[in-house]
Amino acid sequence: MLNALSVDVEDWFQVGAFETVIGRDRWDGLEARVERNGEAVLELFAEAGVEATFFTLGWVAERYPALIRRAAEAGHEIASHGWDHQRVFNLGEAAFRADLRRAHAAIAEAAGVEPKGYRAPSFSIDARTPWAHKVLAEEGYAYSSSVAPIAHDHYGWREAPRFAHRPLAGSELIELPVTTVELGGRRMAAGGGGFFRLLPYRFSSWAIDRVNDGDGRPAVFYFHPWEIDPGQPRVSGAPLRSRLRHYSRLSTMRPRLLKLFRAHEWGRTDQVVMAERERLS
Ligand SMILES: [Zn+2]
Repeated sequence: MLNALSVDVEDWFQVGAFETVIGRDRWDGLEARVERNGEAVLELFAEAGVEATFFTLGWVAERYPALIRRAAEAGHEIASHGWDHQRVFNLGEAAFRADLRRAHAAIAEAAGVEPKGYRAPSFSIDARTPWAHKVLAEEGYAYSSSVAPIAHDHYGWREAPRFAHRPLAGSELIELPVTTVELGGRRMAAGGGGFFRLLPYRFSSWAIDRVNDGDGRPAVFYFHPWEIDPGQPRVSGAPLRSRLRHYSRLSTMRPRLLKLFRAHEWGRTDQVVMAERERLS
């Protein structure tokens, strides 16, 4: 079964866990590593022979359009991760629409194609944002992969469906939540990022098989360019738990990803959405 592979294109200083210590006004003065790390991700995908989705910050697309264009030319899908990583539930409806449009313009300009997919920063579409999917549909998006149907300290919408669904009556917009797995009545995050780095490899690989074979549905997996960059600058002053999550096992990430890419079938998120759309109709 085809699973959705994605990379959330943002730099080491743009992650939600550090936003209280590094203000957005400092971003342009910090050491930019996203272009080099993005190239390393392209090499990794080429080595594995997989195509994926680049959920890109507009802020990054505006500054590094060549990276985004190369990803598009290599056959990857270019989609939106919003402008500058503001969580949707902090924006409100009008500011969300403005953020979406600003990102869309920069990403379309860089990629040469219009993004049709959206991933909210830090999976921040939840019960607090009942207008978010409507805005996405009105702005011409075909799908969102922005919901984490789990309870977590920074995000999550425990009551949301675990698999692809149409969140709006009368709209074709699909929401494709990030992967969770259920075991013994407990629901666990299994869609990538820090969980993939911190938990044993065999848990993630097992979870994908469990979702494919047990639930009969595709998995949705994501990581970040900075996760394969052990040489990134260290942020002091961030909470210990955030630092532990961010910096653990960066050097083992690349070989682990390659192993995962070879153990399962992967494709672009829009391809998986197309297959799920047929299943839903
Ligand atoms: Zn992000």
